[in-house]
Order: sequence, then C-alpha cells, then structure tokens
Amino acid sequence: MPEAGVDTRTKPAVLILLGPPGAGKGTQARMLEDRFGLVQLSTGDLLRAAVKAGTEAGKKARAVMEAGELVSDEIVLEVLRDRMQEPDVSRGVILDGFPRTTGQAEALDALLADQGQSIGAAISIEVDDDAMVRRISGRYTCAACGEGYHDEFKQPARAGICDKCGGTEFTRRADDNAETVAARLAAYHAQTAPLIAYYEAQGVLERVDGMGPIDAIATELGAIVERATA
Ligand code: AMP
Repeated sequence: MPEAGVDTRTKPAVLILLGPPGAGKGTQARMLEDRFGLVQLSTGDLLRAAVKAGTEAGKKARAVMEAGELVSDEIVLEVLRDRMQEPDVSRGVILDGFPRTTGQAEALDALLADQGQSIGAAISIEVDDDAMVRRISGRYTCAACGEGYHDEFKQPARAGICDKCGGTEFTRRADDNAETVAARLAAYHAQTAPLIAYYEAQGVLERVDGMGPIDAIATELGAIVERATA
C-alpha cells in the first residue's frame, strides 16, 4: 500500500464528482486537488465568477442560478471550454458539478475524445435528500481562498480565521436558501441523476456513501483516484 498522502498517479486524470447539492463535492474536490495536484473545475464557481464579472454568459446565467434551475448547456460549455484552454488543466482535472445533463455528458465525451483522453472515474457521492437542506444552509466559504466551512460540521480551528490562508472574511452563497435548495434538488433528480446510469453503462461509475465523516469519504475517494489513474 502506498503511504497516505503520496501521489502515485502515472497518467493525467479526468475525474467526475456526481451528487446533489450539499453532497460535499466541492469540499472533496478541494481535498483531492491538494493531495493529487489535480485541478478542481467547478462550473458553479466559473458561473459565479462570470456573474460577478458581468460577462455576457454571466448576465444570462444570473436569474437562472438565483431560481435554482440549470443554466443552458450552451453557456455552461462556453465557460468550461474557456477554462479548459488554460495550461494547468493538463495536470488532470476533477470536475465538480459538471456534467449535469446528458447533453453535457455527451459534449464532454466528444471534447475528451478530441484530446485523446478519457474519463478515469465518475464518482457518485450518495446522500439522503433530508440531510441536504441542513448541510447547505450552514455552509460558508473563505472570501480570499474559497475554503469551505460549515456552522455545524466544519468550523475553522481559530474562530473567524481561515485555516488555509488566514483570511478573515467569509461569504455565503445567495442560492443557499431553503426555496432555492428545493429547486436545486429537484433539478438534480430530474436532469443529473440519470447520469449515474450513463456512467455505469460506460463502466466508469464508482459509488461512495456521502453521509459519513469528511475524512473517511476523502480516504475512500483517494483510493478510487489511485485505482483510476494507476
Ligand atoms: P453549484 O455551485 O455546482 O451548486 O452550482 C450553482 C448553480 O450554478 C446551479 O444551481 C446552476 O444554476 C448553475 N450550474 C452549475 N453548474 C452547472 C451545470 N453543469 N449545468 C447547468 N447549470 C449549472
């Protein structure tokens, strides 16, 4: 067995994290990023940045995101393609919140085929719907580095100071409120959950119980990444 924390990967990885809002995709993606040198690509983060920057894509996405619905495949693919042009992605990527529709999954397959790459694993983080609202309503992030925290499950070691960068400002997402969360869960079940069968049929699906402690889930995910990229 390799030592914990040692990167034994031999080829660039394309990993997908699937799961409803609040499943812990962002938290786990950031842990895998640190441990394996993968680049976390979160379409939610890219879209929030586009909204903040006031780009054309951001202007179109804003109201849809506030309603908890899915932004059109066209816009999502536009922001993702732009990000995929940047050189750091050659280290391997962990896709967080993408794909979310069959159209996006097919577009991703085509994009990877063009680059001679394939999906290492699509990991479904499985959680109970009931726990989601509680998880989402308590979460916040460091405004400087984006590290995620939670009122109940993950407080910084020193109150009000980010463990990772020492930042002292924190933000909560505008769409992390009860009504929007219900719409986001509904969108997940209607449009994204079918991707579990899609990736099962491709033979790359891995299922992980997302209800346990963050570190136990991280260990399980780390083992999957090692297997998928060995
Ligand atoms: P997230 O940060 O992944 O929870 O995404 C926040 C919001 O951004 C979602 O509720 C959607 O409105 C939008 N969004 C993020 N990723 C996608 C995607 N792959 N397809 C469509 N909409 C997305």
